[in-house]
Amino acid sequence: MPDPAKTEVYLGLGANLADPRDQVLRAMQELAELLSDYRASPLYRTRPVGPVAQPDFINAVVCGYTTLAPDALLDHCQALERRHGRERTIHWGPRTLDVDILYYGNVHLNSARLQIPHPEALRRGFVMIPLLTLRPNGETPTGDPIDRSRYDDAGLELLA
Ligand code: AMP
Repeated sequence: MPDPAKTEVYLGLGANLADPRDQVLRAMQELAELLSDYRASPLYRTRPVGPVAQPDFINAVVCGYTTLAPDALLDHCQALERRHGRERTIHWGPRTLDVDILYYGNVHLNSARLQIPHPEALRRGFVMIPLLTLRPNGETPTGDPIDRSRYDDAGLELLA
């Protein structure tokens, strides 16, 4: 049974530079240390979204339980990004590693630094398709039904 002092969180991972599959796998190893009852989706290859021509992304979603408050969890995610040498030069542009907080329990939060649930989560196939592998009830942690067919043309390829 999970500890009631802990909150179940879902994090989205993405990378498209410098051996992105390896970046995501190494980030997963670090997050497995940070979160208890850690679980991970498979990896997916995804066509990039947005106006900048760039390599395909590798995406995945992980989940687990934490006692960290949302801000402290974001600190850990950003430190992980920095350790992977993330470049922040172009908005929507290539990045070695991106780690987003998708859900923090069923909490809704809107601060200068943090919006939870992540505002783009439901729009993104590369978030929802991996998330579904961790959510057999077919709902987001905040209770929204996930309509798989909405993401049919999201261009996701499941990696072996
Ligand atoms: P991005 O470049 O898209 O990864 O955005 C990074 C910025 O988004 C950071 O400065 C965060 O403070 C902010 N942010 C807001 N909500 C979230 C969230 N749920 N997860 C991660 N970063 C967030």
